[in-house]
Amino acid sequence: MDLKRIAKRYLKEDPLDEFVRDNLKRTSGYSQDISEYLAKVRSRQRISDSDRLRYSNAYAYQAWLTYGKNDTQGAFRSISRALKLAPKNPVALFIAGGFSERSCNYSFAVGYYFNASRVGEGSVRDSSEKRLDAIASGLIEEATNLAKSHQFIEADKRLAFVSERFAGSRRAEALKLRKEYRDEIVAMQMLQKAQQLLSMRRRGDAQRLLKQITQNYSWTRAAEEAQKILRKSDTLYVRAKADSTFAEIAAKQKWKVLETENFLIYYRNNDFAKEAAKIIEMVFRRTVADLDLKNVRWKTKKCKIFLFDDNDTWSKFKKLSRFHGEWAAAFASPTSREIFGNAAEGKRLLHRTLPHELTHLIHHEYAGERTAIPIWLSEGLAMHQQFDSKLAYYLNVHSAIYANQHLSLELLLSYTNYPSAGKIGYFYAESLTFVEFIIKTYGRDAFAKINRDVKHGKGKDMDLKRIAKRYLKEDPQAVDRKWKRFIAARVETLRK
Ligand SMILES: [Zn+2]
Repeated sequence: MDLKRIAKRYLKEDPLDEFVRDNLKRTSGYSQDISEYLAKVRSRQRISDSDRLRYSNAYAYQAWLTYGKNDTQGAFRSISRALKLAPKNPVALFIAGGFSERSCNYSFAVGYYFNASRVGEGSVRDSSEKRLDAIASGLIEEATNLAKSHQFIEADKRLAFVSERFAGSRRAEALKLRKEYRDEIVAMQMLQKAQQLLSMRRRGDAQRLLKQITQNYSWTRAAEEAQKILRKSDTLYVRAKADSTFAEIAAKQKWKVLETENFLIYYRNNDFAKEAAKIIEMVFRRTVADLDLKNVRWKTKKCKIFLFDDNDTWSKFKKLSRFHGEWAAAFASPTSREIFGNAAEGKRLLHRTLPHELTHLIHHEYAGERTAIPIWLSEGLAMHQQFDSKLAYYLNVHSAIYANQHLSLELLLSYTNYPSAGKIGYFYAESLTFVEFIIKTYGRDAFAKINRDVKHGKGKDMDLKRIAKRYLKEDPQAVDRKWKRFIAARVETLRK
C-alpha cells in the first residue's frame, strides 16, 4: 500500500481535495489554459466546445487553489466562471457542490451534486452520489440529535429538506422520523403560541391553549412544559389528592404525573409514561365503541395508572399490596379505578397487559361492580383489545380444532371459574376467537346487546343455545360451523 492510499484511508482526507487530485491531474497546464482563454477573449476568437471544457477545468482547478488560500469569494468567482464556460462540466459541478457543502449551504450543494451525478460518469458520478448520501445521512443524524434534546422544530427543518430533495431510502427514513415527531412539533408550536400570548398578557387565551396541549398531546415534551406553566411550578410532582391511598403515597415519594383526557399516569423516572399516554386513550375509545357505550368520560374521576420503574420496586409493592393479578406485569383495581403496572416490562406492558387490564376495568365498570361477566366474554374482549399480533392465538385454536382437542363452544361458554394454570392460555385464545367472531360476523350491535343483557344480570344463563338464538339469530350448529370457518379464514389473513 502506498502512502497516498494509506492517507486516504486512515486520515480521512477531505472528499473535495481527494476529488480534485483524482480528476484534475494536469496541475501545471491549467494556468497556461487560462492565459490562452483570456487571449482568445481579448482577440474575440471563437472558442470550440472541447476548448470550453478544457478552460472550464482550468478555472475549476484555480477555484480550488484559491479556496485553499482561504479566499472563498475568489474561489466562488472562479467556479462560476468554470460553470459559465461549460454548464455541464461534471468536475466543475462537483467542486461547486463541495464549496457549497463546506459553507453549509446544503440546498446548493445538493443541486450541484445532483447535476454532477446526472451528467458525470464513472468515478465522478460515484463521488457525487456518495456526497449526496453523506449529506442526507448527516442531516438525519443531526435531526435525531436535535430531537434528543427536544429541539423538534429544528429537527423537522432538516428532515423536511431530506424528504423534499432526496428519493429512496433516505427520503423514507426522513418521512418516518417526521411522522414520529409530528405530535411533538405541533405541541411545541402551540406552546410557542401560548408563550407569546403570555407575554402579551392574554392570560386567559394562553391558559386555554396550554390546557389543550396537556389534554391532546400529553405525551409530548411541550405538554410537560405546559403543565409546569399551568401549575406555576418547576416540577411535575404529584400534588396529593385524598381520593386514593396510592396517589397520596405517590405524592409523598415525589412521583410525577401526566394527565390525559381520561387518565392520570403516575410515574417516577421512566419515559414510558409518555408512550402509555399516547396509547391509553386509543384503547379507551376502542373499548367504549365495542361495548357501544355513548359519551363515556372519566373527567370527574380520572382513571389512575401507576407505572413502577423497575422489577425490584414492583415486586416489593406487589407483596405489600397483596393484589393478585392475572399477569405478572400489571393489574387493575376496578373499585378504585386504578391500574398498576411495571414499566420494566417495556413494550409488553404497553401492547398487551395495559390494554388488557384497562378493558377489564371499563367492562366491569359498565356491567356494575357486583355483576358477574361470563369469563369467555370478559377475557375474550380484553384479549381483543391488545395490540399484539393475534396470529399465534388463532393458530393455537385452529390446530386444536383440527386435532379435535378444542373446547366445544358449549363448554367454553359454561365456565364460571378460571381453568387451571396449564389450560388457561388456551382458554384465553379460544375466548378471543369467539368474541372476534361475534363482532366481525354479526356486528357490534349484536355484541353490545349481549353486554347490555349481562349488565342486567342475564350473564348467568347465557349458554350456546341462547346466544345463538337470541343474539346471533342462528342455530347453534350453524354458529359452530361458521366459527370454525372464521378461524381458518383469520389464520390465512393474519399470515399475510
Ligand atoms: Zn384478563
